[in-house]
Parts: sequence; structure tokens; C-alpha cells
Amino acid sequence: MTPAVSERVTSAGSERVTPVVSERDVGQNRETGADWKVRSAVSVAVVSGFNRTVATMTFDIVTIFPSMIEQPLAAGVLGRAIERGTLDVKVRDLRDFTTDRHRVVDDVPYGGGPGMVLKPEPIFRALDAIEAERGTPLTVILTSPQGMRFTQVEAQRLSGVEHIVILCGRYEGFDDRVRERVTQELSIGDYVLTGGELPALVVLDAVARFVPGVVGDEQSVAADSFGRGLLDFPQFTRPAEIACRSSSADEGDVRPAKGDVGSARGDVGSAKALAERVLKVPDVLLSGNHAEIRRWRKREALSRTLDRRPDLLDGASLDEEEVQMLRELKGARHGRD
Ligand code: SAM
Repeated sequence: MTPAVSERVTSAGSERVTPVVSERDVGQNRETGADWKVRSAVSVAVVSGFNRTVATMTFDIVTIFPSMIEQPLAAGVLGRAIERGTLDVKVRDLRDFTTDRHRVVDDVPYGGGPGMVLKPEPIFRALDAIEAERGTPLTVILTSPQGMRFTQVEAQRLSGVEHIVILCGRYEGFDDRVRERVTQELSIGDYVLTGGELPALVVLDAVARFVPGVVGDEQSVAADSFGRGLLDFPQFTRPAEIACRSSSADEGDVRPAKGDVGSARGDVGSAKALAERVLKVPDVLLSGNHAEIRRWRKREALSRTLDRRPDLLDGASLDEEEVQMLRELKGARHGRD
């Protein structure tokens, strides 16, 4: 397969559906001798850049609901990266690593209590099989609300790892002994989901964006929010002006309300009059003055970060111009208070 590293890929426009379920790789359960199938498989392209020198980035995802992983990976940027071979993703059905007729993966908790717990043996067998097939020691990520909070910095770091296994929990989670085989536990936020499939997809998606050739324009990844510890600046596209019914009156030309009263944007419980306003793209972006546009974007990124996530600014890497802008922005806010 020919790598298409320079090909521009965007998620805009209509999405192609890429069939990633091939069930073409088959292995054997060591204890039962039964066949297990790799539910989806695509491989190999050679690319370089970002913090990777190796070829394809490889993921093995272990789950009891393979279709929850396969369906989302069939579309969009990731689907195309898999199709091209820039990403090699294999989805492993945990039930293929059971030894009993009913393919049981869970059991009641020792000590009593509600719910079921994922048994350790099928997981150990799955990891043994993946290690044997891949031929390398495994980097194993366990999805868990108790894990380290997943961040953009961690996504970029993980993109330097050649091969990652992600374990998706269910029920009350894993038998704690599974942690013996785990390199790292990751949480995608302080809330509890029914399973690890969505967290696995979140991790895979965020990490894969740092793999060269996955997102067509590598600069856009570097410029994204959190790239240098700042949120991204606001973006606009055509048309340069658009009428919009809105309850907010701090921007744009306001026209009289047309009689509608209601909650348009989540003002739960409040009934505000909607005014029709003309929303304009900031003049500077239409000016063609690239130096001014660059400065405006820097200032907007700093301003947004200061307003929404001031905690990020402590770790942000700012150039001299940005340090000066930040000083001015803080001064202006101080004067306003
Ligand atoms: N009893 C567990 C606890 O309180 O830590 C929660 C189990 S949860 C219902 C089932 C599975 O969903 C977990 O094993 C994990 O794989 C996944 N999960 C749920 N919330 C998550 C989160 N915030 N981040 C990562 N994985 C999560």
C-alpha cells in the first residue's frame, strides 16, 4: 500500500464509509484451541514527522462490544487513515478469549455487592495473544474513571509509542489483578460511563491526530487548542455577514425582535425576547493584511484562554509579543473590574 502522507484530508463535506471489518486474521485460543478472530484489520505505511520515526501507529482494542469501536472507525479522517494504512487498528472481542461454552467474561464480586466484574483470565489471554502476534512487549492502557486524566499533552506523548493496547471495561470494571499487566490507566473525565469503548475511541482519536498523515495539514494539529497551552482563536468562514435571531446583544447590529419569545440557546427556564442581529466577520480577517491577522489571532487566542481557561496560561509557551499582549489584556480586564 502506498502511503499518502501529503494528501490533504479534512473532515468537512460528505463522509465516505470505509469498511474496516475484515475478520481476516485468525488465531487460536491457547487453552481451548478454539479460533479467535481479529474483527478488523488494516496495515502499513511509512511516514515520519511529529514525534514519530516509525511507520504506522498500531492499536489493539479489547472489548466485549466490537461494533461500538468498528462503526465509528469506518467514517471520516480515521476511517481514511485506516484505509490508507497510516493507522493499523485491530478490534479484539474479549469473548474470543474465554474457555467456556457460554463465553462468559464476568462474574460476581468477591465480598458481595451489586454488579458484575470482568474476569482476569480472558484479559490475560487476550494480552498474551496480542503480544505473541505483535512480537513486542505491550503498552497497555486501561480505561478507568480512576485513571490519570487524559490530556492533549498525553495524546501527543502516546503518539510516539509504536503500538498501544486499550482495554475497555464494562459492568463494575475489571478484576483489580488485571492492573498487573497495565502500563497506564486513563480517565477521560470525572464522570462514569457504562463502558470503556467511548473512552478508547476518544484516546485513539486524539492520539491518532498526531500521527503524520492522519490529518492532512499537520500545522492545523499544532495550532489546535492546547497546542502551546492556549485555546484556539475564533474561526470564521463565508458569508461575511449573516442575520441571526439571538437573545445576546453584545455584538453585531441589533434589529427589533420579530415577536418570537423563547429559549434559543440553553437559557433553561428563562424566556428572553429574540432580536434579529447581523453578525459580521471581524474586519481584520477581510483586510488581507497578514501581519495584522496574525496579531489578531494571537490576541484572540490569549484573550479566550484568559477568559475561559486561565489555568492553562501558567504552562503556556508564549513568545515576547504574546507576553506583552497578555500583559495588556490583563491590564484591560483589571481596569474593567
Ligand atoms: N466501578 C467503576 C468505578 O467506579 O471506578 C466504574 C466502572 S464503569 C461503570 C465501567 C467501565 O467504563 C470502566 O471499567 C471503564 O473501562 C469505563 N469508564 C467509565 N467511565 C470512564 C471514564 N471517565 N474514563 C475512562 N473510562 C471510563
